[in-house]
Amino acid sequence: MIYLNGKWMPIEEACVPVLDRGFIFGDGVYEVIPAYSRKPFRLNRHLNRLQHSLDGIRLKNPFSNEEWKQLLEQVIASNEGEDQYLYLHITRGVAKRDHAFPLNVAPTVFIMSNPLLPPPAELLVSGASAITALDNRWIRCDVKAISLLPNVLLRQLAVDVQSLETILIRDGFLTEGAASNIFIVRNNILLAPPKSHLMLPGITYDVVLELAATHNIKHEVREIAESEVRTADEILLTSSTKEIMPITTLDGKPVGTGQPGKMFAQLHALYQNYKATQMRGHVSDPLQS
Ligand code: PMP
Repeated sequence: MIYLNGKWMPIEEACVPVLDRGFIFGDGVYEVIPAYSRKPFRLNRHLNRLQHSLDGIRLKNPFSNEEWKQLLEQVIASNEGEDQYLYLHITRGVAKRDHAFPLNVAPTVFIMSNPLLPPPAELLVSGASAITALDNRWIRCDVKAISLLPNVLLRQLAVDVQSLETILIRDGFLTEGAASNIFIVRNNILLAPPKSHLMLPGITYDVVLELAATHNIKHEVREIAESEVRTADEILLTSSTKEIMPITTLDGKPVGTGQPGKMFAQLHALYQNYKATQMRGHVSDPLQS
C-alpha cells in the first residue's frame, strides 16, 4: 500500500496528473529512509535533511515531523517485511506549465515502501568494482532533488561495464558516488570529503564518522585529491540501502591488495552492531527519538 495525497492505495492504482511539476520539471525533493525490524533508522536526521532539501527548493514542508512520523509508521504497518526502505517524494504540485512557481497549489506527496535487502554477501567478501567519471551535476548536490538525470547517466556508465558505482571527481577532487558517499583509507587513516554543496550529506556517512570517533579510529575530514583515490589502500562506499561496502577494483585496477581491507571489516562490524543496538533501543541517541 502506498500513500498519495492523503489516500492509501495499491501502487498499481496510484496516478499523478501529467501536469505535475515533478513530471514536467523534476521540481521536487525526496528521502530514502531504512526501517529495520519495522523501526525507521535515524528518522530525525532524515527529516532534518528533508527540511534542508525543501528549503533549498523554496517549498513549504507539508507536514510537521510528528505528522511525518505517523505517516511513515502507517506505511511500515501496511507493508510486509521486517526491513523496509521508505521512499518519500514531494513535488510542487499540479499547475499549467510555467517555470515560475504556481500560486496556491498543493504539493504532491507520495510515500512507498520496498523490501530492504542487505548487500549480496559475496560482494562483502570479495568487494565490488567501481569506475570514475567527471562530476557534471549541478552545484546544489546537498539538495536531495528528484531531478536525477545526471546521476542516472553517471550510474549507468558503471552498469554498462558491470560495475557497482561511479565515483565522481570534480576539479581534481573526490565528491561522492552517483548514489552513495565515498571514503578512502590511506596509511590506516579513514579519509572523508567534507560536506559541502557538492555532495549529499549522507546519513550513513555521519554514522561512519561517528563510529570512527567513538572507537578511536584515526580519521580526517578533508578534500581528497583524485590521485589519492587512485592510490588508496581501501575505498568504502556508504548509503542507506547499501550500508558499507568495499570497493576493491577501480577503473579495472585493484584497490590496495584488491581484497576488502581491515578498515572495511572493522567499520562493517561496528555498523552492524550499532544498527542492532539501535533497533533494540539499547543505545540512547538523542536524535533518534
Ligand atoms: N550521495 C548520493 C548522490 C545519494 O543518492 C545517496 C543516497 N542514495 C548518498 C550519497 C548516501 O546517502 P544516505 O547515506 O543518506 O543514503
